[in-house]
Amino acid sequence: MAALVEGRTGAWEVVIGLEVHAQIISRAKLFSGAATAFGAEPNTQVSTVDAAFPGMLPVINRHCVEQAVRTGLGLDAEINLVSVFDRKNYFYADLPAGYQISQYSRPIVGKGKLSLDLPDGSSREIGITRLHLEQDAGKSLHDQHPTLTYVDLNRAGVALMEIVSEPDIRSAEEAGAYLRKLRSILRYLGTCDGNMEEGSLRCDCNVSVRRPGAALGTRCEIKNVNSIRFVMQAIEYEARRQIEVIEEGGTVKQETRLFDAGRGVTRPMRSKEEAHDYRYFPDPDLLPLTLDPAWVEGLRRALPELPDAKKARFIAAYKLSPNDAGVLVGEQSSADYFEMVAKGRDPKLAANWVMVELYGVLNRLGLGIERPPVSAAALGELIDLIVDGTLSGRLAKDVFAAMVETGKSAAALVEERGLKQVTDSAAIAGAIDAILAAEAGKVAEYRAGKEKLFGYFVGQVMKATGGKANPALVNEALRRKLAG
Ligand code: ADP
Ligand code: MG
Repeated sequence: MAALVEGRTGAWEVVIGLEVHAQIISRAKLFSGAATAFGAEPNTQVSTVDAAFPGMLPVINRHCVEQAVRTGLGLDAEINLVSVFDRKNYFYADLPAGYQISQYSRPIVGKGKLSLDLPDGSSREIGITRLHLEQDAGKSLHDQHPTLTYVDLNRAGVALMEIVSEPDIRSAEEAGAYLRKLRSILRYLGTCDGNMEEGSLRCDCNVSVRRPGAALGTRCEIKNVNSIRFVMQAIEYEARRQIEVIEEGGTVKQETRLFDAGRGVTRPMRSKEEAHDYRYFPDPDLLPLTLDPAWVEGLRRALPELPDAKKARFIAAYKLSPNDAGVLVGEQSSADYFEMVAKGRDPKLAANWVMVELYGVLNRLGLGIERPPVSAAALGELIDLIVDGTLSGRLAKDVFAAMVETGKSAAALVEERGLKQVTDSAAIAGAIDAILAAEAGKVAEYRAGKEKLFGYFVGQVMKATGGKANPALVNEALRRKLAG
């Protein structure tokens, strides 16, 4: 179901296609042996190929090809056994060769698909048009000198996958869900770290609007947006802008725009007339890339379990809700953590502890689940103490907080702090007798029909036992005594 946007003159449908540039995880560049580590001193990771010295020849990096094929397989896409590298020609200071090696008419990966998880628990398929390999350009530094621009070529030649979607996305929320899902798949595969702050994942957003059911409208392309939140803001703004233009009797001009994150608006960068003519042609330095079908099959068989399959398994095997399963499989490490906690335990209880208590602490401390403050084994032991009646659910939360703080085990903390739940019925009965004797007036009111006082008595007993009495036993014994 497509979310429509209400304009002054009726409803509009927003149409979005995304082009994502994903930096491949690889120690060396696409056509040279230079290193790719993030944050190195400028121009320390540049080979003569990257700097385009005369006569230097590109040599394809097999690992990067493997990463692109594995990504294609992870997107359920056709793998093209023959693909071609083209030169995309343009002049820019950070592009020493005067062209970028890319793929144009014959990309390495063809049509695929990606399934979006929607908030209502349903899913929707978005078509992938293609994935191709290309080199990144260098970087112009405008803030190093008052009048000069410096160039850093460390990034020049780094391998990118450009992943293009069909115009199947219908709202800013769906665009956000698409990017989160794509990033999750790339991370599971280990083909891109998905780090948008460091620029390993960048997104161009193509946006148009139309009346529901009408032909596609004219699109604008918003270049190089570098966070999911900004992608969503840029799309919201751009769709509104186009609707206003049309409703005021104008027409949308096809153009490239930039998102100004500070002001939350898009503004024109260049129009279609100024668009580059890249004069693509096959790079004469590189043969067509031919893949061995058996090698591709081997890569397919060795793929890890991906988020959709894992989610389906979590729902079937652990009886989790689609939403809970979706949250847990978002990152491979959180899925693994959950499975370790759930092993041999009540999965629903394990899921709650991971998603509520553990995630709460991770958020508060700004940590990722790869470095959890409490190990899966230690959390499992805590849950065992709840199940065997040693700890009430409430006390267990305190113990968990103490585990985070001290790094001690649940059992050690229970021992040390004397937190063992009171399940001894004689001790509970003693506490109840003392309270009822001290509160004779309230007991009389209760027996005369003021039933809501029951909660008050429970509270008093819990207080008297330092919160350690087993709540179920307290309830049961209180009812008996108040009735008698
Ligand atoms: P280009 O190579 O000029 O960027 P493409 O035809 O390859 O153009 O399209 C690029 C992206 O634009 C794709 O993600 C595609 O889905 C999207 N797209 C194409 N037409 C529209 C449209 N009318 N509205 C929104 N997105 C569109
Ligand atoms: Mg484009």
